[in-house]
Amino acid sequence: LVPPATLFGESRRNSEGYDLSDDKTLARIENGRKSLAPLQATPLTVGEATGGAVDLRNPATGEVIGSVVQADQDCVARAMSDAAIWDAPVTERAAILRKAADLYERDFGVIFALLAREAGKTQLDAVGELREAVDFLRYYAGEAERRPDALPLGRVTAISPWNFPLAIFTGQIAAALAMGNAVLAKPAEQTPLIAAHAVALLHEAGVPRSALQLLPGDGPTVGAALTSDPRIDGVVFTGSTETAKRIQRAMAKNLTPGAPLIAETGGLNAMIVDSTALPEQAVRDIVASAFQSAGQRCSALRCLYVQEDIAPALIEMIKGAMDELAVGDPWELATDVGPVIDREAKTQIDAYVAGRSAQVLHRLKAPNAGTFVAPTLIEVAGIEELEREIFGPVLHVATYKARDLDKVIDAINATGYGLTFGLHTRIDDRVQQVCDRLHVGNLYVNRNQIGAIVGSQPFGGEGLSGTGPKAGGPCYLDRFATPQGPQVAG
Ligand code: GLU
Repeated sequence: LVPPATLFGESRRNSEGYDLSDDKTLARIENGRKSLAPLQATPLTVGEATGGAVDLRNPATGEVIGSVVQADQDCVARAMSDAAIWDAPVTERAAILRKAADLYERDFGVIFALLAREAGKTQLDAVGELREAVDFLRYYAGEAERRPDALPLGRVTAISPWNFPLAIFTGQIAAALAMGNAVLAKPAEQTPLIAAHAVALLHEAGVPRSALQLLPGDGPTVGAALTSDPRIDGVVFTGSTETAKRIQRAMAKNLTPGAPLIAETGGLNAMIVDSTALPEQAVRDIVASAFQSAGQRCSALRCLYVQEDIAPALIEMIKGAMDELAVGDPWELATDVGPVIDREAKTQIDAYVAGRSAQVLHRLKAPNAGTFVAPTLIEVAGIEELEREIFGPVLHVATYKARDLDKVIDAINATGYGLTFGLHTRIDDRVQQVCDRLHVGNLYVNRNQIGAIVGSQPFGGEGLSGTGPKAGGPCYLDRFATPQGPQVAG
């Protein structure tokens, strides 16, 4: 990875004129003069924006980096009536989505800066996120071309999370657009600037404005309107299980029966490390799965089970590996763990850890400024002690006896969630035993359990973790079209 200073040249100014060295704002250089106005995201609806402006803060510093003009009821109503399906041949839609992928790559500088400043993403995460977004655009373009006769649902609402403000935001939109739907996109409240930039690039590539409108705003106003209006024909959502249930109820009450909800939700993800595992490999994968992205992935490892024979040594190694993590400014290349998304998240996670202080085995130090949470290791008896998903850099560890493996699997299944799972073992039969009994969407063996690759590792969960079909997989697009029998050609 090239250091940012080299990437962006001496002034760290990118091709669009954004000065990326400015810590407070992403200021634009105009005619050699730096404009100090922070960036603003406004609803990119066909009509005019009318809502109020809200400041956006860099989670690493607390400084204002821009503002967003929130969409209000009027904005949503106008967007709804102006929305029109994308009535172009599939080859043209696919070409435009591929062009958008090229534009995302062209703008990598400003995208990395936005990901760091608005979402607190480390450089490593920003690279992965841009790659995933681009992969979604190209993959769904190709998948749509395999369904030349498919008909769009109509108006599709896309509600996306702040933890993948570019990749998941883009994936949802790209899937819906690839099938010719009109998309009404509500980004997470914390990350509208990235969303606005992505939508501007999609429009620049040729997506009609009536087929893609951005409606930044909060759940109770924009989210509720976009999931309860009878003119909506489908909803794609990534976020908490609780919100997905609320959306499901609203849709059941108001929308045409059969309008699909495609939801990716939470998880309580576990990993089992048995006594045949390679310790160095397991420790590397445990630390990446639990602490990369500051633990803010729904795929992240929350509860590690270590076979008791090797537990004392392995836990010592985990502590040592945690000590090597650099917690700090995500814009620094050396940083491994950035801040959590906002003050509310920090307060909640810190309170959770404080409530379990007697069980804390290891805790790092975190910078005082901004919303950093110190990576923490907590001892538990088993996954049943975790009442809810803690969306941050907190790993729980339990030990188990070899003869109790089935009981451990039962306890993991009993959570009702089923997103990711990791297994470190060198016994083939054990891999089979776990695969046969565990109800999860993505099961990873002898590697980390985050970072599913579009096209080769379709991502999604079972039970409380989502409805399917898996994102980035060959069945995903079928849910964005009217059901009319097999649609895949050849
Ligand atoms: N697809 C991501 C991964 O495999 C996780 C997505 C999410 O956190 O919602 O790590």
